Amino acid sequence: MNKTLSITVTKSQRSKLSETDFDTLAFGHIISDHMFVAEYVDGEWGNMRVEPYGPLEINPANATLHYGQSVFEGLKAYRNEAGEILVFRGDANQRRLNESAFRMCIPEVPEEVFMEGMRKLLEVDREWVPKNPGYSLYIRPFVFADDDYLGIRPSRKYKFIILASPVGKYYAKPVAVKVETQFSRAVEGGTGAAKAAGNYAGSLFPAQKAQDEGYDQLLWTDGKTHQYIEESGTMNVMFVLDGVLVTAPTTTGTILKGITRDSVLTLARDMGVSVEERFLSVAELEEALISGRLEEAFGTGTAATVAFIRLINIHGKDYLLPEKPADAFSNRVLKSLDDIKYGKVPDTYGWIR
Ligand code: PMP
Repeated sequence: MNKTLSITVTKSQRSKLSETDFDTLAFGHIISDHMFVAEYVDGEWGNMRVEPYGPLEINPANATLHYGQSVFEGLKAYRNEAGEILVFRGDANQRRLNESAFRMCIPEVPEEVFMEGMRKLLEVDREWVPKNPGYSLYIRPFVFADDDYLGIRPSRKYKFIILASPVGKYYAKPVAVKVETQFSRAVEGGTGAAKAAGNYAGSLFPAQKAQDEGYDQLLWTDGKTHQYIEESGTMNVMFVLDGVLVTAPTTTGTILKGITRDSVLTLARDMGVSVEERFLSVAELEEALISGRLEEAFGTGTAATVAFIRLINIHGKDYLLPEKPADAFSNRVLKSLDDIKYGKVPDTYGWIR
């Protein structure tokens, strides 16, 4: 731990807590009273502070506005029954932020800046971690280029900011997804494995089109042949076929290495479930839907943890998934993960801080 790390705290004059209805939280609308900010200038991170959440002053020539040199993370804090605040796998998010940053020529955020910044913000805004069961505080660390320069080159100045947003349950209803075979989210050699801002901008149009057609999310296929399933919306995607848990490998650089994905695979193996990290073709998925071999399909991600899929559209045809028994794998693994996140069972994996 860097002993020179100093974080100043300026408290907000007026808390929004009392006017926030924690019973009707929709994802991402409400930001807590404070934010953590660090600035990168002359090759070093400094000027670290927790200050009231509010607008930033941005020069119109800011490089992020023009070229999108920006990466982000998403993780959650949960409140246990004793009222303590638990953060799930923040170390993994810290590492992934820097992997994304590396790909986008953004300087690394040192572990202690990320961790201490988050700890301090949670200390100041601890009352923002919801008490309702199933609710949590979504944490959004991000780094963006802060140069005022219209030429294209890696920026020399950056800001690292952490926001916190109380959230209810996400995607509580099972979702309908459409296999996307025209647009691509990522290609080999591209930026798909980075949590880079532009990836999300590029996916808006195809996602909106699918929503106009009545689907909640896309099932992205590989950018080259559109024959293999990669991810679902902003989640990794998993299938249970003949009792085997199947999900795409993350070796091609086109798929985000989800922390929920890794957690689910770890729990599955420990439950004695067979796991195959292999690409599932659209043809095999369709065959499995027709023959009844497909038992379950679900997305995994921080926002939803597990989002059950009820319908898959393939080449214009809707296929309904079979009714799930109560002891289905996705139900069991969601419960196991929630029990760990809310501190209801001992954390034997070392995932909680
Ligand atoms: N894929 C994409 C493209 C995502 O944006 C996310 C959300 N971070 C995920 C997968 C799931 O990752 P995680 O489980 O770490 O939230």
